[in-house]
Amino acid sequence: MFRKIKGQQQVIDLLTNAISNERISQAYLFHGSDGVGKFITALYFGMALNCLSSSEYRPCGICASCHKFLSFEHPDFNYLFPTTNLKLSADGEIKDSEALEQYQAYINNKKESPWQDFYFSGSTEIRKESISLLIKRLELSIHEGEYRIVIIENADMMNTATANAFLKTLEEPPDRTVIILITERLPQLLPTILSRCQPVYFKPLSQAVIQEILYEQFAVDTLMAKSAARISGGNLRTAIRIAQDTSNTTRIKAFEMLDMAARDAALEYLNLAAKSKESADAVRDLIAYIGIILNDLAIVEYAPQEVTNLDKLDLLKDLTNDNLTDQIPEYLLKLDEYSRMLEGNVNPGLLQLNLFLGLRNLLCNKQ
Ligand SMILES: [Zn+2]
Repeated sequence: MFRKIKGQQQVIDLLTNAISNERISQAYLFHGSDGVGKFITALYFGMALNCLSSSEYRPCGICASCHKFLSFEHPDFNYLFPTTNLKLSADGEIKDSEALEQYQAYINNKKESPWQDFYFSGSTEIRKESISLLIKRLELSIHEGEYRIVIIENADMMNTATANAFLKTLEEPPDRTVIILITERLPQLLPTILSRCQPVYFKPLSQAVIQEILYEQFAVDTLMAKSAARISGGNLRTAIRIAQDTSNTTRIKAFEMLDMAARDAALEYLNLAAKSKESADAVRDLIAYIGIILNDLAIVEYAPQEVTNLDKLDLLKDLTNDNLTDQIPEYLLKLDEYSRMLEGNVNPGLLQLNLFLGLRNLLCNKQ
């Protein structure tokens, strides 16, 4: 099943070698940007360590143990992620009914469509109570597996007290216990945590790999796969979201914005924006798509066959000019900045408006 993971061959080699040489670390830190396969690799690694198949290609994905892992029901698989306050009982029962519902929805989403983001309604973190419960469970003996597997997702979202409570366990996990921490924000982890784990870096996926996955695993047509891969910035989750947007919402909105910007129709745009409140994700996708269109505008004169929006060739040729193409590189940098700002607490609506005004100035040649 490791073959299903694309674009991370170095990591797969490292982990399969560790298994075949029986040199398995007790604590790993999987780090790298979002949507590059960290969780699925951690899950498959845990499965491989417990797979009952005698084949050299483990995990097999079909034995009883693999099944239990894939349904998140293996008694020796402990999975922690940031949650709202679960109000856990002493034996780990979730007492808060709303939290329980969201907790289960999070796991179901992870099982069935991990490329979709799932948000809790309140603020989340890796809770002290979850870590305390984990520590207590690790003191018990292993149920049925060869190894006990702990996956802690977004491990940086642990406050200092919680992280400190976990240090001793991380330093000396019980026998045959493998702890895998996962993070997209390495600098936010305490140095004491970092120093106790073997780091494993996941690089961003190349456009070609993303295109291949979309085409092979999601039956996305070549043209769409190409454009989604380009927009995604190496993040498979973003690429899938865009590719599965069958109504092409992002693209339609981007061309709408382009049209109004070119006509200097600010009022019209304000009216439209007031009616549709966009989420941060939607604005991020919009920014990415505007980037694609600008890229098309920059190359349409000398390499029309290379543009992504081939069906808009006439429009693109109408809009482009030398003055515009000179300014596009600088504007693309600004788009990167906008995307980064969205990761902070910037209001998506305001950012969208700025995006429009910038685009209008660019297309109408205003300063
Ligand atoms: Zn198996």
